[in-house]
Amino acid sequence: MTNPATIQPRRRGACPGVLAPMQVGDGLLLRVRVPAGVLPADHARQIAELGSRYGNGLIDLSQRGNLQLRGIAADGLEPVTDTLRGMGHVSGDAASEAVRNVLCSPTAGLDPTAAMDVWAAARTLDARLAEDAALHRLPPKFGWLVCGGGIGHLADSSTDVRFDAVDGERFRVSLGGTLAKAAPLGLCRADDVADVASVLGRAFLELRATLPEPPRRMAGLVAAIGTDEIGKRLSRLISPLPPGERIKVRGTHLMDVFGDAEPPHPNLLPKEEKESRVGEAPSFLTTAFPFGRLTATTLAALASACAEIRITPWRALILVAPSKDAEAVAHTHGAILSHTDHRLKLTACSGAGGCDVGTTDTHAAALAIAERAGPLLDPVRMVHVSGCAKGCAHPAIADVTLTARDGVYDVALNAKAGDASPYTGLSPADAVARVADLLTEESTGA
Ligand code: SF4
Repeated sequence: MTNPATIQPRRRGACPGVLAPMQVGDGLLLRVRVPAGVLPADHARQIAELGSRYGNGLIDLSQRGNLQLRGIAADGLEPVTDTLRGMGHVSGDAASEAVRNVLCSPTAGLDPTAAMDVWAAARTLDARLAEDAALHRLPPKFGWLVCGGGIGHLADSSTDVRFDAVDGERFRVSLGGTLAKAAPLGLCRADDVADVASVLGRAFLELRATLPEPPRRMAGLVAAIGTDEIGKRLSRLISPLPPGERIKVRGTHLMDVFGDAEPPHPNLLPKEEKESRVGEAPSFLTTAFPFGRLTATTLAALASACAEIRITPWRALILVAPSKDAEAVAHTHGAILSHTDHRLKLTACSGAGGCDVGTTDTHAAALAIAERAGPLLDPVRMVHVSGCAKGCAHPAIADVTLTARDGVYDVALNAKAGDASPYTGLSPADAVARVADLLTEESTGA
């Protein structure tokens, strides 16, 4: 089969796909949009084989619930694309592929505490986005989310259009943000999700064009014009939210969409809490990876230890129906199996080797900090090691930030990458030691 892929250069705001691979420091990067994030074990094995055979064997988990194959050689594109297409993970063309940004609760159908099994709704939405050519003009990062609530809720994932199940038949539709912050429009029936999405996508494209500076995301449109004009177009498909009623999304304890309470992070819940919420023998195992990076060998090993893999937006994989030795297999391959693992607090871009701008091994520095600082990281929410001042992995403030330039690091607390730093030009080893010293001073109040 002829390969229609068009290679795109790395640039800000661009999103790679299978049909739009991106040229980065270690070769071509292919983002595989897996419908509803559900990967049968056999598909995972085949993808691992593609990564080993045609790529550099590295695989990334994105925060939008996708798999990214790294280091694919140009002459490997055709066999990789054809194999992925055979599994149903590639659309007809790059435009229809680019808009399939649908995040689905990764525990859909596995969690009795969820309000609804949203797998079918997410698949239907994914298919509609691919088919509806009018929506292919949506900006590349425009995203959708279908959440069933429960242990794998997506309350704290921010996106453009949210469908959050309120019971077994209806979704709360809201625009631009997390569950707590998105602007509510009303309730729709589960069967109408794709039609609602079709109307909302068109409304976004038409209404943004009326503004002098068209916003690129739904939150910007809502900030500019509110929700009335958008909501009017949905009058046939949604019913109003009951006035004054505080709608709860089932299973997301503390989750009250009109409240201020932040949702719990559902990644790697303590074993006891998971068991108390979904039963004594959970039929799944969550395995996270530092920076969301794993190898093809690891993916193949995990695939051999379960029936199905769910891709999460938490840089973790959920192994469905894990074998007795699945936890040991994951542990052997360096997976994070506990919510207390300090490596969950590390964020880093690919740095040297993965990006042609990078001059340091950002992952190695971050892991060295976790090892050296140990319990000093308990009160820290995030350590960010950036390969340069761009801060691609985390554009916002982190508790600890290392910014590389020309092989050395600047170290700062409560700063963004590239911010002015009191400690500059440190070798990687000195930067790690400086972080440990600063955290010690913070913990002792020195
Ligand atoms: S922040 Fe990292 S990934 Fe982004 S341009 Fe700099 S080195 Fe490359």
